[in-house]
Parts: sequence; structure tokens; C-alpha cells
Amino acid sequence: MSLSFKNITILFSIFCGFLLFLINVIELNSNYKNIKTPYITKSSQNNLITKNISNKPQTETDDLTENSFKNLKKPESKEKIILVKKGQTFLSILDNFNFDNKKKFAIINAINPIYDLRELKVNQKIIFLIDKNENVEKIIIELNFNTNLEADLRSDIKIVKKELETFSEINSQEYVISNSLYADGINNNIPNQILIKLIQLFSFDLDFQRDIQKDTKVSISYEKIFVKNKSDYALGDIEYAKIIIKNNTLEYFKFLTDDGFIDYFNRQGKNVKKSILKTPIDGARISSSFGMRKHPISGFNKMHKGVDFAAPIGTPVYAGGNGVIEMVGVNGGYGKYIRIRHNNEYKTAYAHLSAYRKGISKGVRVNQGEVIGYVGSTGRSTGPHLHYEIIYQNKKVNPLKLKLPSGKILTGDELARFEKNYKMILANHLNNLFE
Ligand SMILES: [Zn+2]
Repeated sequence: MSLSFKNITILFSIFCGFLLFLINVIELNSNYKNIKTPYITKSSQNNLITKNISNKPQTETDDLTENSFKNLKKPESKEKIILVKKGQTFLSILDNFNFDNKKKFAIINAINPIYDLRELKVNQKIIFLIDKNENVEKIIIELNFNTNLEADLRSDIKIVKKELETFSEINSQEYVISNSLYADGINNNIPNQILIKLIQLFSFDLDFQRDIQKDTKVSISYEKIFVKNKSDYALGDIEYAKIIIKNNTLEYFKFLTDDGFIDYFNRQGKNVKKSILKTPIDGARISSSFGMRKHPISGFNKMHKGVDFAAPIGTPVYAGGNGVIEMVGVNGGYGKYIRIRHNNEYKTAYAHLSAYRKGISKGVRVNQGEVIGYVGSTGRSTGPHLHYEIIYQNKKVNPLKLKLPSGKILTGDELARFEKNYKMILANHLNNLFE
């Protein structure tokens, strides 16, 4: 009795974790467009201390007071901060200041070619700097985390976009999995965006269902990017990730390659990315493996030439690798079906979908990890799941057993540079953890 209660509790918490994860994936995808990775001006070596701030919500913003620009501005000028309210237009905001109509429209006409003022969002911050004669001398519109638009009104109206100086801090954490990589990460205050990146990173080498067991240890360093005088921040890259599973330690280091890509390598300088994902879906459970089985609908013994991942209807399905969509449409018992051609040798297929992502059609290029469709139960299917096939030289192969070609291996000077780099990352990581 007590055992089954325990099982139910575990199942329930896994389910909750998965729900949380899904919500965050959706949130991440919708936020992603708005977050440009800011240029980093100070590197991780100068890291300040990080452990106390990891609880801060990411969008937290200090209310600037009238004094906060005191040091930067002449003492006679003051500032007024407006947070855009729902339905408020820029024109109606200008009504709060002593502009005549001509001036108002001159300001709007000057800003609009550089920033479309109809794109102002609720709670976007606009700062008005006012001189001692109560004239607005400058309007600063915060465009995003590290970009401001400044309208200087002192003589002719001058508009500039200003990139703000950023600096980064490295946060390091270590935790033991009792539930799932994701749920325990959240419990250890690791931001969901970082956890999603972590899962994507590990997904090349890990089968989450099979490999991750209770008491698996995870170690991670990631970057937080700040702007001077602002308390909100953006999350940067994972710098370091380690997971210790049975007989195996996976360890990844971030590295900027000679050709300018940020990528991840192990200590030997081998890229961790594989050409095709073994699991093109997050948090799902394998409900049927590749091999002989009794077909649940026909009842015949039949070779199951794919892997089934049970997941709720609507769960996003990712492209297993970079490639071109070869087929989209209903395909007999497969129901709604997508097939991607990755190169001359590899293809992947996705069946029983509920829907295709908008824009997915024959001939379209997709990148690994991009959403292509959503889990469903169309065709000959007994319940919501993704049927995933990897096709190698026109033969369906077992995705979980496939030895996939790996990516770049660093050599020569690049390898030497990487080695220097990873030792620094590791030293920082350990230093952060144990100080
Ligand atoms: Zn199947």
C-alpha cells in the first residue's frame, strides 16, 4: 500500500514537473525573439559574486527614483519616469509635458523612422529629463534590456540608439536529481531558460528516460548579463555542464570556435552535438521501443520500426537535425506525418501528429531543435504519442542504438586555445562552488 502511494506521488510530481517544463518552453519560445544576446564587455574571469542573487526574478526592475541620475546629470535637471499603460499612445504621454502640438508631432516624426512608436508595450519605460525651466531636454525610451533610444530635444531633435554597456557574472550550482533534471533544477533556483538549454545540450548523449537515475549529480555554470545601474538582467550561455551517470561522466565546455560559433566541447575537444537527435521531444516517456511487438490495434506480431514517445496532445516536436522537409501530410496509418531529409544518408519521420507548425511545408529548411509539429493521435494510434523514425540509407534503424556521426573535433592551435579556455572555465566553476 505504502509503496503504491509512493509511486503515485512520484508519478504526480513527474507530471507536474513536465507541465511546468512545457509552460516554460512555450514561454521561452515566445520570449526568445525579444531577447537579443547582448554584447559582453567583461568576461567571466571578473565575476562578482553570484550566489545571493539567483533567486531574483528575471524581469525585476528597480524603480528608479528622481535621484538616480543625479551623478550623471546636472543637478538642476530632474527626471520623470513613465511606464506605458495599456492603451496609452506616445502622443498621449507627451500630453503630460509642456509641448505645443507642432513640437509633439516633430518629436514623433523624428522617432518613428528609427523606432515605430506603435510598438510601445505595456510597462515599457520612458524617461523624460527636465531642465530647471521645466523644459524636457531629453526623452529616453528603453527598447530592450540593453538598448535605449534617446531623443535629444535641446536644439534640433537628435535621435540616437544607444547600446548600453553590459557585464556578466557566472553562476555555478550543483544538485542531485531526486525527481527529474528539470524539476530538481527549478527547486535549486536554476532559471528555466537555462534548464531548457541544459536539456537540449544533454539530449545528444543522454536518453533521459533510461540514463538518468535517482542521485544523479548535475553541475552547471551559466552566465547572467547585467547593465550598469539596472537591476534586471538577461541570461546568457551555459559555460559548463556536467552530469555523472552510471559509468559515465558527460562534461561540456562552452567555446568560441575559430569560425565564430559558440559551441560545446568535451575535454578532448570533441563537439558534443550530433547530427540527429535521438529524442526529438522534451520530457516524454518511451512507450514503445524499436523491435518486434504485438501491434496494439491489429493484434498481429509486427516489427515496430520506430520509437514511440508518449506525451500529451500539443507537445512540441522538434526537427531531429538540420534538413529539408521532404513530406508533410496525411500518410495512411501514420496519420499526420512529416519527413525531413538531412543529407544523402539520413532522414527522420514523425507520425500521428495533431498539427504541423505554421510554415512547415515541402522544401522548407529546418534547423535541429526547431518546432515542426505537435503530438497527436492521428492515423492508427491508440493514444497521444509521437512515433519517431530514423531512416539510414532508406532503411529504418533503431534511433536509440544508432551511433551517430559527431561534430567537429578541435585540433592544432584551436585545440590549444580550447584547452587553456576550458581550464579557466573549470577553475571558475569550482571556485564559485566552494568559496
Ligand atoms: Zn510507433
